[in-house]
Amino acid sequence: AWLNVTEKIGGNPSSMHQFGARAATALAEAREKLAHFLGCHPAEIIWTSGATEANNTVIHHFAEKLGATGEIWISSIEHPCVNDSAEHYFGQRAKKIPVTHDGVIDLDWFTMEIADKRPGLVGVMAANNETGVIQPWREILAICQNYEVPFFTDAVQWLGKMPSKDLGECDFVSGAAHKFGGPRGVGFLKVPRKSEISPLLFGGKQERGRRAGTENVATIVSMLTALEIREKQITRNEHILRGVWRDNFEREFLRAIPGASIIGANSPRLWNTVSALMPDGDRKLEWVVRLDKAGFAASTGSACTTGKEEPSHVLAAMGYQTAQAVRAVRFSGGWETTEADWSALANTLEKIHGETQHTKTHSIA
Ligand code: PLP
Repeated sequence: AWLNVTEKIGGNPSSMHQFGARAATALAEAREKLAHFLGCHPAEIIWTSGATEANNTVIHHFAEKLGATGEIWISSIEHPCVNDSAEHYFGQRAKKIPVTHDGVIDLDWFTMEIADKRPGLVGVMAANNETGVIQPWREILAICQNYEVPFFTDAVQWLGKMPSKDLGECDFVSGAAHKFGGPRGVGFLKVPRKSEISPLLFGGKQERGRRAGTENVATIVSMLTALEIREKQITRNEHILRGVWRDNFEREFLRAIPGASIIGANSPRLWNTVSALMPDGDRKLEWVVRLDKAGFAASTGSACTTGKEEPSHVLAAMGYQTAQAVRAVRFSGGWETTEADWSALANTLEKIHGETQHTKTHSIA
């Protein structure tokens, strides 16, 4: 799709000539497709450079709209591009919604608090990027609608893995192509049709004046091509089968490595994510290095901030102590990950565990 647009269309969608018109048509088609998947109006879609920009746009918009005394509520497990942006614009007025030890929004807390006080915005991600724990965004949306509070969900981890239907009912929704097989550096923000958006970027009338800058048509079309493929797979329930493979892996893993546990094990989780707490005394970096040598790219925290070694704010919000959080390793599969890949990973983990146990025994001796 990318090559096709680059080679055959190529124009700037704002240009009046035929190349521009072709690009504008491709952009309009992509907008209609996304609106169809989300269940919203095409005019509600703004193309962005990714979810970081989309999320910053939402928070910045509310900072302008609510002024110096406005308060927003976000979950305590949001991606840093929501969390840090909220802290930047709102400081203490960005209240954090607690989560349970299983990593799900504390709905009791939320229901009680919102009955008392109305924030200017509620932001809760659809699924968490570190644990894969699915959040009850539909329930939170319904509560927010009841109190006429705008609701924003970062659907980056959800989109392309779970059905996107109904997401369009949320006032603000963000997504990024690279989480479902599209190119990096492209995403979108769904906004309410009737509201004016305070743009983050100025300098052009693109996207109805809501986001200045020439649209990257080839990556946008590619994003929708990828999403279409994923939506078809989801319709055929292919994600459910992948969830079974992942569950089998978890069983194998827990059997092979005594003392390990799965973070958020009691919550509904995305089918591709396993956040594991390795056994007491083990260092996660050792696991990551040994797995890397064996050909498995595991992660210690959020992939977006690789190398970051501070304890995860997500695990802290779930009540994990720093000494525990430093043992967290994340395994993320994708649509291309096979059942055989998961079982090869389980075997490799068992092998590494055996080797490290052997080394430990020897060093004690
Ligand atoms: N939100 C979540 C939940 C993420 O996992 C990520 C990571 O990529 C982002 C936002 C940032 O998205 P992008 O890399 O497109 O800026």
